[in-house]
Formats: sequence, structure tokens, C-alpha cells
Amino acid sequence: MMRFASLRCAFLRVQGGVWVKAYVYLVCIGGAWSAQMTIAPEVDRLFWMEDGLAEAARVVDGRQSGRKSREKLRSKAVELRLKGERVEEGLLSEEALPLGDAIRCVELWQGAGAARGEAGKACGPLASLAACVEQARREASGALVGPGGQAAGDASLPARQWARAAAEAGGSSPGSARAAARAREAMAAAAQRAAAALQGRALLRSEAHALLEGAAADIGGALQLAQLLGWLRLTGAVAAGNGRRRRECRCRRCGSGEAHMHRTACAACGRMCAYCSACLTMGRSRECELLVLGMPAPPLPADSIPADLHKWQLSPAQAAATGSALRFIEAPHQSQQSKEFLLWAVTGAGKTEMIFPLVESVLIRGGRALIATPRRDVVIELDPRIRRAFPDARVVTLYGGSEQRWEAGDITLATTHQLMRFYLAFDLVIIDELDAFPYHGDPILHFAADKSRAPHAPKLLLSATPPTELQRRARSGQLPHARVPVRYHRHPLPVPQLIRTPSVAKLLQAKSLPRALLAALNHSLARGAQLFLFVQRISQVEPMAKLLRTVLKQSAVEGTSSQDPLRADKVSRFRKGQIRVLVTTTILERGVTIPRSDVYILDADGRLFDEASLVQMAGRAGRSGDDPNGFVYFCGRERSRSQISAVRHIRGMNRIAGKQGYLIQEGTATRTFWSRLLKR
Ligand SMILES: [Zn+2]
Ligand SMILES: [Zn+2]
Repeated sequence: MMRFASLRCAFLRVQGGVWVKAYVYLVCIGGAWSAQMTIAPEVDRLFWMEDGLAEAARVVDGRQSGRKSREKLRSKAVELRLKGERVEEGLLSEEALPLGDAIRCVELWQGAGAARGEAGKACGPLASLAACVEQARREASGALVGPGGQAAGDASLPARQWARAAAEAGGSSPGSARAAARAREAMAAAAQRAAAALQGRALLRSEAHALLEGAAADIGGALQLAQLLGWLRLTGAVAAGNGRRRRECRCRRCGSGEAHMHRTACAACGRMCAYCSACLTMGRSRECELLVLGMPAPPLPADSIPADLHKWQLSPAQAAATGSALRFIEAPHQSQQSKEFLLWAVTGAGKTEMIFPLVESVLIRGGRALIATPRRDVVIELDPRIRRAFPDARVVTLYGGSEQRWEAGDITLATTHQLMRFYLAFDLVIIDELDAFPYHGDPILHFAADKSRAPHAPKLLLSATPPTELQRRARSGQLPHARVPVRYHRHPLPVPQLIRTPSVAKLLQAKSLPRALLAALNHSLARGAQLFLFVQRISQVEPMAKLLRTVLKQSAVEGTSSQDPLRADKVSRFRKGQIRVLVTTTILERGVTIPRSDVYILDADGRLFDEASLVQMAGRAGRSGDDPNGFVYFCGRERSRSQISAVRHIRGMNRIAGKQGYLIQEGTATRTFWSRLLKR
């Protein structure tokens, strides 16, 4: 164990930074030479040269499921060693290399194949390895190397022979042999624990160490043994995009390419070294930094479990859509694209209740479910509801600053940024509010979401206002989907009415409101509603709140925006009914639900409000079964294309709901009113 513990020196502090020292070595086994990379050479020496570790590893390996995927990552030499084959000779290069160079060197060795056979005969395996090191180094320094540029001639590499300790010591006592055997079993067990803890993860070195704290005495050694055995992968966090043009780098964690790469004289590795600026907020991903990739989640049984939808108390529309989604996620899937399903549910449809049966299906089959959303406040709000619905499941909630960062759960709730730390982990990925900022239109977050799901896992997209491209794919039949055209209370969505008003700038200048708008506002207040009043610009929020206080003779008027430090407090007071009118921007277009509320959208013809945000803002009204017919007003100088599309969208959903018989039966008068309205 002493030797094992001393291996912490594999990570050296250089000029204030930590870099991973990697080594390359050669072993001759079964009559062939094989090159390997290591970040803890002594672990490799024990594995190849001594008795006990390979045997212990084979026992641990046999106990794990998913043998095939591990074998794919193991070299033939390792397979032979696990079968008990002895190594004829081992040669360790004494020169420490940056991780990327060592990995590339082994790739070059494997790629050279037959050519190396010829060259190797002439000048020996060590010279061939030296040539690979040389080429890896040239590529890293930016020299473009053409095909066949590898010259095995004059390169040399300082190396030493690996010795067998037992032979040196001339035998040992039975007691110390037993102790050594136990130590090696402990090493294999530690590597297995590390691999299990890292399953489905993509972590930088420091993150992996934080996660594994206490799991192994020597974390570097455990990681190295696990990688040798194919239980996980060690790579550079920033990888060469193309072997021949090393300068084209790509971030393995967030998928960003050259456009986001910055090169600095790196204090850690002492070279010009690229780092990724796109995912910098999640810790620095650099060329000389280690990225640990855990094993993917094993496939789930595809069999369908008879779903007890009844217990979730879904409305007929919810139950129908959930049923289609369930059939979809439980079916076996082939290609990556066919695994997407869109749940297009109107605002207030009760999306959260609809995902419960889907999550349950995955949990019953022994899988892990992810619910991700771009918005932190949505994550925090979902947390207690998920825990109530699944009291026996381990729920992990992840966002910037969350305390559960390194825990593993049956259900993971996360902001989309957190998905960068996962790799092929989840058996079901649900992206809620996929059209919300910043997920919508951010390729990094899309990359992270796709990277986080296991190869077999379906992805469920949830939105009330899917991006045009998804709508098009759904309509043309390319994207399997289910629509929920009605709210859980089965009343139609309030259709916005138009009030012609001057621009907000003019209103603020005149310090007065047009009579029609004022009358509507007073009517809303008189009926006991709380009011959302949306404006386009943050700078208009406070002046408008002030104007409303005066003209409405109402003191409980507040304004808030993304720049308001008191936003959370004001939203909370609004929820409690202490604020009657809240002037705000699109920052509150989603998420905040008030039982009896009316919605006023000023400058509704302005450029910043597109169809989706108009539909979302309108969706704040009529959410409660007690007050299902809230009022929505588009206030502006004219009816813009976005407004027309939004009204068409809302009416279209109401029409579908009516046709499918989802709307609640109301009095004849109301029915006539709606049928007239829908015909318009
Ligand atoms: Zn990145
Ligand atoms: Zn570096």
C-alpha cells in the first residue's frame, strides 16, 4: 500500500498550476509490442509485471455487467494479461509528456500498424515509439505533418526496463505476500468504485477528485487502473479536431470549436496551450487538462410496464398525450434522430404532472431520468414537486452553486448548463421550456444535452411554443409528437383583445393613459384580479409603475426586471397578493403563476415581442380553475404580424380542444359565444 500511496507524485505542481504528467510505455506480450499511456506508471508496472493485480482486476471485472463496452476500450494486450499471459518485457519512457501528446502518441502507434512492423524490425520498438512521440509533439507545436511524415530513423527516447520486484528481492515471506495480494485486491476494488461513481460523467480532473474524495487512497492510481481496464476513459479536455492539423482544437466537454479557443502561455504545462472560453463558467477546459469520461449507462429493458395513469389524476387531454409519450419512450429505438419526441402542451396544461408517469416508467425499469430546463427558478420550483411525487427516489437537483453537485440520483433535475458534466448518463432526457433563453439557439447547451443521454435513451422536448423548425418537423411527420391543446381545467385559453394605444414612450411623456386602457385596468382591479403589465424596455419599468400608481390611485404597484436585485422578493410578494399590479419585461413571461390574473402587453406591436413570447405572456391569464377566463390585452398602435400569429396560435389550440371534446361543457350562452368567436 505504501507504494500505491506514494503515487500522488503523478500530479505535480508546476509554476503554480497543476498538470497531468503522462508517460508512454511498451510491453511485449504474446509476442507483440503494445504501446500504452499512463498517468500513474507504478500502477501499470504492477499490473503488467507483478502477480496479483491482473488477477484481482479480472475478478472485479467479471462481477460487473456490460462487459462488451469495456472490452471495446481495452487493448488486446490488456485482454491477454487478464487471461493470465505474462509480459516478456516492459519499457517505460522516462520523459513526462503533456497528456494530449501521450494519448496522440499511442494513437499514432496503433495507426501505424504494418508500417511499424517493417520499421520496427530495422530499428527496434523503442525507436518506433520515439518517432510517435516526436510526431505527436510536432503536431502539438502546430507543425503540419503530411501523411507518412513519421520518420523512425533518428528519434530516441530515454527509457528504462521494468523490473519484477519479487525477482529483485529474491523472494519474500508468505506473510508479506499475503499483504501484497490484499493491497492489490484493494487497488482493483478502488478502481471499480471510482469507475462506478464516474459512470455517466464527464469531469475535469479537479471535479473527478472532488467527486471521488474518500473513495480511493490514491485517486490518480485508481483512475489509471480503471482506464487500463476499459472501465472509463481519460482524455484531454480540449482535443485536436483533426490529427493532421493539431491547431484545430475542439472542447470535448461543450463541443465548441476553434472559434472559442484561446491560446495562452500556460502556467500549468509551460507551453502555448488552448483553453475553451465557451464553457469557462464551468471551470477551465484546456489542452493539458484531464477529462474523465465514465462508462455509458447500460441499456434498459424495452418492455412496457402497464402504466397506472389513473393514479396521477390526469385530465383526458393530459392522459392521451402522456399515453403516446409513454409508448414512444418504452419502444426500442434505432437511430439517434428517431428518439426525439415533442410534447406540445399549451401554457397551463399541467406539463409537470404529465412527465411523472414517464419518469416512473424509467425508474421501474432501473434507469435514471433527467429533467433539464434552461431556467434556474424553474428547477428550484420543480424540486419539491418531484420529491413529493417520488418519495422513494433519490432526487438530485443541480444548478450553479447547488450542494448536491457530486451526488448520483435516480432523478436528476438540472439547469441545462449542468449537463456538461454528464456523459451518456441518462435513460430518459426531458428538456422543459426548450425554447427559453439561453437553451434556445445555444449550440453548446444542445451539445451538452445530447452528450448527457445514454446511446439508447429517448429525448422528450416540452414546450408551449416550440421553435418554428420543430413545429415544421412535427407537422410534416418527421418528429413524433403529441399535442395538449387544453389546460388541465378544460377551459379554453383566453383570446387576446386589442386596445389601440400610443407607444409607451408617448404615454410616459404625456403622463396619462388612454381611456379604453384605463377602463380595462379599472375593470380588472374591480373584479379582484392581479395584473401583469409587460413593457419592452427595462428603462420603462419604473416610470410606468409610477404612472400607474397615480392614475389607478393604487399603491400596490411595483416594477421588476432582470436587473432588479429585489426581483425574487417582489415575485414572492406578487404571489402572496401583496402586489396588485406588477410591471415587468419578458423576464416574467414564464414560470410565475397567479390564480386570478389579467395580462396587459404594452407596445405589443414592438419588435422585441415575437409570437412565442406573446403566447407565453398571454398564458399567464386564466390559469386557475376558479378563474379560467382571465383577460389578455394586446395594447399597441397596430396589429403586428406577431400578434396575428399569436392569436391564430391560441385560437387554433382552442379549436383543436373543442373538436377533440376536451373543453368542459358550459352553459348554452357561453357555448354560442365561443362558437361565434372561434368562427371569426
Ligand atoms: Zn468548452
Ligand atoms: Zn497547459
